[in-house]
Amino acid sequence: MMNIVIFGAPGAGKGTQSDFIVNHFGLRHVSTGDLLRKEIADQTELGLKIKSIMDAGHLVSDDIVDQMIDRAIAESPNGTLFDGYPRNVAQAENLDRMLASHGRSLTCMVQLDVPREELIRRILERAKVSGRSDDNEQTVKGRLLEYESKTLPVSEYYAKQGKRLQIDGMGKIEDISAAIITAIEKL
Ligand code: AMP
Repeated sequence: MMNIVIFGAPGAGKGTQSDFIVNHFGLRHVSTGDLLRKEIADQTELGLKIKSIMDAGHLVSDDIVDQMIDRAIAESPNGTLFDGYPRNVAQAENLDRMLASHGRSLTCMVQLDVPREELIRRILERAKVSGRSDDNEQTVKGRLLEYESKTLPVSEYYAKQGKRLQIDGMGKIEDISAAIITAIEKL
């Protein structure tokens, strides 16, 4: 059973490639961003609390997302694809602990590498159709800064465990999907 993290900056193509990976390997797609946006759309107590944090491009607290992930692991006995999580080293450590407590471990982390200028271009392009209140020029820069300062160290965390697969995130969507599948199947 596979448990995979898809990793990369905002705009790197994690959502697009996630759809492909979950279909190919029969995994459940768990996106913390999607789960949090649903809380906001449903106007839950949690949703009201996190809206301004997300609109500012900041990370919500680890407790909130860790709880969502623990539940998602329990609800996906055939394996999970984690998208948008972990976003910092503490979350990565928690993920290892939570998987272990369910008798599982991480198979690999797939990192999509895309240059900064292209990330900004893609997010502003996506903004035209996504309706996401955090897809705007102001917030994008903040999200990239959060990524560079807090999330990027997660890449080294998995490299040290020998679990990082680095994929060039530039080019045709289907070529990137093929490169991801080949890298995972080689493990
Ligand atoms: P995403 O859809 O992955 O780009 O996430 C959108 C926003 O949700 C982020 O900018 C954060 O505010 C919040 N978020 C998503 N995943 C996490 C996480 N693992 N930890 C903290 N905040 C998160």
